[in-house]
Amino acid sequence: MKTLKPRTLELPTDRLVRHKLLIDGKWMPAQSGRKFKTLNPATEEMICEVAEAGEADIHAAASAARKAFETGPWPKMKARDRFKILKKISELILHNKERLATLETFDSGKPIESSRHIDIPAAAEAFEYYAGWIDKLSGETLPVDPAYFSYTLREPLGVIAAITPWNFPLLIAAQKIAPALAAGNTVILKPAEQTPLTALCLGQIAMDAGLPEGVLNIVPGFGPVAGAMLVRHPEVDGITFTGEYLTGQEIMKNAAPGLKRLHFELGGKSANIIFEDADLDQAADFACDGIFFNQGEVCCAGSRLFVDQKIKKTFSKLLLEKSKNWQPGDPMSTKTEMGAVVSREQLDKILRYIKLGEKEGAQLILDGRKQSKSKGYFVGPTIFESVSNTMKLAQEEIFGPVLSQISFADFDQVLQQANQTIYGLSAALFTRDIEKAHRAARLLKSGTVWINCYGTFHHGVPFGGYKMSGYGREGGLHTFDFYTQMKSVWLHLNS
Ligand code: ADP
Repeated sequence: MKTLKPRTLELPTDRLVRHKLLIDGKWMPAQSGRKFKTLNPATEEMICEVAEAGEADIHAAASAARKAFETGPWPKMKARDRFKILKKISELILHNKERLATLETFDSGKPIESSRHIDIPAAAEAFEYYAGWIDKLSGETLPVDPAYFSYTLREPLGVIAAITPWNFPLLIAAQKIAPALAAGNTVILKPAEQTPLTALCLGQIAMDAGLPEGVLNIVPGFGPVAGAMLVRHPEVDGITFTGEYLTGQEIMKNAAPGLKRLHFELGGKSANIIFEDADLDQAADFACDGIFFNQGEVCCAGSRLFVDQKIKKTFSKLLLEKSKNWQPGDPMSTKTEMGAVVSREQLDKILRYIKLGEKEGAQLILDGRKQSKSKGYFVGPTIFESVSNTMKLAQEEIFGPVLSQISFADFDQVLQQANQTIYGLSAALFTRDIEKAHRAARLLKSGTVWINCYGTFHHGVPFGGYKMSGYGREGGLHTFDFYTQMKSVWLHLNS
């Protein structure tokens, strides 16, 4: 066991870094006075304490969001003016990129280079991208009986609760807040309790950009308390949630009495299929990226790797070679590709699954437990071979850098097995045969299919799940199916 000395805490100390609740445009402590600690997973040290929202705070946030929606300037604002504020938020995120990246890495354990070049710029892009939709969300005129004039209006849904996870804290918050605001809604964000810090900065940024008070409220707190209260609150019209499907089920139950509109992006156990005619070197690079990027804490991680049995040996060798680039290390070092996992709980879960895989009879060819450190939540790339698709190892979401390699004999068999999962978020395949690629893309029951690549994203491309991976899509025009209402208007023409 090596001792790692992650760099000492150098938190930015300016006004951007906030620890309180943002309600109705003001930073305030929790009414109960309660706070909770947020830790640096690489050192297990406390970063700071953050106000913990309870019932009274959720009520205050919901009332503020309702007031801002019903009587505030935001939903009625000229498209151009709303555009300018969202664009300004994007610019301020980029202007503060370095401090946001540092905070994200301290709070989540992810490598600083990922925070700098992926999370923070992509969060800024979300505001820029959705700002572009503001003056394009139009209705239609409809060809009805000539005695009538009929048209549709796209209206904002109302008060949106956004409940976000800890794996891409600022980015996922931005992916929800930006379209919600673009459509004229007001928002209450409950960030994950493990990683509340960049969301709080975003609150300050939004106010600095001129977002009217009450339009964005931020209430860090615990899921079963603050999250559940938010879901049940009568002033909340819609809930957009990214997280585990079990939490999704709980949210659905709590939202049922109010028949609230839901958008869910849940877990995955994505199949990555390597056919024998693929560019194997490229496929192995993407296979590693697909499962080891962000410590495997990715809902669309390529955790089930199906490899044609004819190339099994060659491909394992390639994987082992390329896995060496993914050794866990100090998240603040620019050389680190794999950081710490987010919490002790998450680390224990990953370790439990590695043990379970051994018990189920899979063959461990790379054991990430050897990469653990005496301090911090570290586990290295882990690869199992001879996995059967029915093992729990291959069926349950681990959310860590654990790859299950399953070999297959032919196209039909692999397509059938790839679809044998409760999930359907994403899938990938590698082949040089264009016809086979598109045939497989049609047959795979998942919201995204990558061909000869893995994990590519764009705010304009819909992302979301089939089956237990959720419903609704984030990305492009389809995002607004959730964030807007459609109203039909009829006018009688007298002559
Ligand atoms: P994980 O278990 O990996 O933390 P979750 O799905 O539980 O993933 O968490 C994602 C988000 O959902 C977090 O913000 C968390 O606080 C929130 N959450 C957890 N339980 C509930 C709940 N019962 N109602 C609403 N939100 C919840």
